[in-house]
Amino acid sequence: MQVKIDTPAVERFIDSQLAEWQLAAKNFAALDGVKVKTLDVDGMPIKVQFNPARIVSSGAKVDAKAVAARPCFLCAANRPSEQSGLDWHERYTVLVNPFPIFPRHLTVPDTSHVDQRIAGRMADMLSLAADLPGYTVFYNGPRCGASAPDHMHFQAGNSDFLTLGDFVAAAELRTVKESDGARLSVADSLPLKFFVIDAAKPESGAAMFERLLRAMPVQEGDAEPMMNILAYATADGTRAVVVPRKRHRPSFYGDGSGDTMMISPASVDMGGVFITPLEKDFERLDAALVKKIFDELCLSKNEINEIASDVK
Ligand SMILES: [Zn+2]
Repeated sequence: MQVKIDTPAVERFIDSQLAEWQLAAKNFAALDGVKVKTLDVDGMPIKVQFNPARIVSSGAKVDAKAVAARPCFLCAANRPSEQSGLDWHERYTVLVNPFPIFPRHLTVPDTSHVDQRIAGRMADMLSLAADLPGYTVFYNGPRCGASAPDHMHFQAGNSDFLTLGDFVAAAELRTVKESDGARLSVADSLPLKFFVIDAAKPESGAAMFERLLRAMPVQEGDAEPMMNILAYATADGTRAVVVPRKRHRPSFYGDGSGDTMMISPASVDMGGVFITPLEKDFERLDAALVKKIFDELCLSKNEINEIASDVK
């Protein structure tokens, strides 16, 4: 469907999908009953959500063999008949995510089945964020929580659900580079270390991101640096929060048996909301464990500053 994409159009679209599509309506309604608790992780507010429906994502097998064996759920040909989409910039389709975390949760796949890669896509990501004030657009790298690493997609959800805005505002930001209406800053004062790109225009933010991308290390066998990205509209343009990663899942990741926990962090977790599909993990997750997860999966202050000094 071809309509101008803005926040009111997306709100109407979500409502119409929920009126027609039983599975999605049931899963969105179930969000009203999910348990939530809030932790203070060294000054960072972190919410924990017990969400049993998300086992499809947190427990997903994302190795190349398992991915190749399943029909791709983001390809138009394989979508449920009730699922409709809105065209965005002719290259993407805006869809309702039938397994939501947010009260308003979208998936935005490329119209073709191409690998999940961020290079050359940041201008799209930022202009989608600029088109949807009140929403946070996010990108999970192929080994950083994307459940379809073989099909390029963004997701988006209502920003007020995340604690991201609060902890980024509380973070001490140091400017690394500034040019053409874009500023790259580093935030290394919180338990989670990240970069922030503020830009007046999507193109200038994207140019700054490409400079950061070239400075980030790529692990052997990977096609791009490991990362999660969250972007949203601001009064002056857009802000992108880039969280570099060094590991996919925590050392204690598992099916919940023994000492393992089914926690597979992606952008939403980095945005301040940890998702636990198992109730016992919800009860057990505390500030010390969240800190351990950040330490294992994300970069240290030194590693972040090394990248910052390599940005040309
Ligand atoms: Zn596909």
